[in-house]
Amino acid sequence: MFRNIVVPIDLSHPEWAQGALAHVEGFGDDKVTITILHVMEPVPSYVASQLPEDLLTANRARALKQVEQFASDAGSNVQAKVLIGHPASSILEFAEKQNTDLIIIGSHRPGLKDYFLGSTASRVVRHAKCSVLVSR
Ligand code: ADP
Repeated sequence: MFRNIVVPIDLSHPEWAQGALAHVEGFGDDKVTITILHVMEPVPSYVASQLPEDLLTANRARALKQVEQFASDAGSNVQAKVLIGHPASSILEFAEKQNTDLIIIGSHRPGLKDYFLGSTASRVVRHAKCSVLVSR
């Protein structure tokens, strides 16, 4: 039985998160901790230095709000997390730190039918120390 599940979602395609989140319903027991995780790519320092600090903070707050909405829609045992970093390595690091036993990840962005797995999904599948469910 899985106890600690992470569902990484890409907020640039929020409508496609639903597929991965639909699997969460199968793990609906109260003892399961589920975290919906979005990773924001860091803004390069030469760009960040040209932007008001407020804009970056507002962007992060907006992302957190979106993930929180997904989490509250998904159930009371679902929490929201936003990290800044490289998506695949941040997902893998977070999963290890949290003793995650299952990652539920989308296979790739829709439309890219030739790709078996997208770049983030394939890195996660290859390097995760826990089980990975690839949602199609
Ligand atoms: P593609 O290379 O086709 O864009 P990806 O491998 O990036 O495909 O995306 C597949 C899945 O990886 C997404 O459905 C999502 O589960 C996860 N993912 C991708 N980018 C992020 C991100 N920035 N934060 C969290 N999860 C992500």
